[in-house]
Amino acid sequence: NSGEMSADCLFCKIVAGEVPVEMVAESGSAVAFKDIDPKAPVHVLVVPREHHADVSALAGTSPETLADVIALADQVASDLADGQYRLICNVGPKAGQTIFHAHAHVLAGTQLTGF
Ligand code: 5GP
Ligand code: ZN
Repeated sequence: NSGEMSADCLFCKIVAGEVPVEMVAESGSAVAFKDIDPKAPVHVLVVPREHHADVSALAGTSPETLADVIALADQVASDLADGQYRLICNVGPKAGQTIFHAHAHVLAGTQLTGF
């Protein structure tokens, strides 16, 4: 189930353009769009086009795509904020992961505190 589109996956549908989002950036291997429930003035999700259940699976299978995700996150933080940001990847339900398609949260645009 790695790399293929998953029919029941929300983020695969977003990558395919089947669910509307506020897209803010795209690259060959990833897309970046605004989180529907923002936790900071800038809260963007960076999502690889390929389906992997989480960042752990992505790191093991396609580390170059994970590097692309981080590079796109950095670009978004410079474009939409001042280049200072927090990057969060939740891996597993204990970490709070709710969408099982790898993604990184970019939080920026304010003074962030705590974890
Ligand atoms: P997780 O908890 O899995 O790391 O993060 C999933 C994120 O996806 C949450 O912050 C949630 O607000 C966001 N999200 C869930 N459904 C949608 C949606 O339909 N559109 C957008 N733009 N974000 C979504
Ligand atoms: Zn998916």
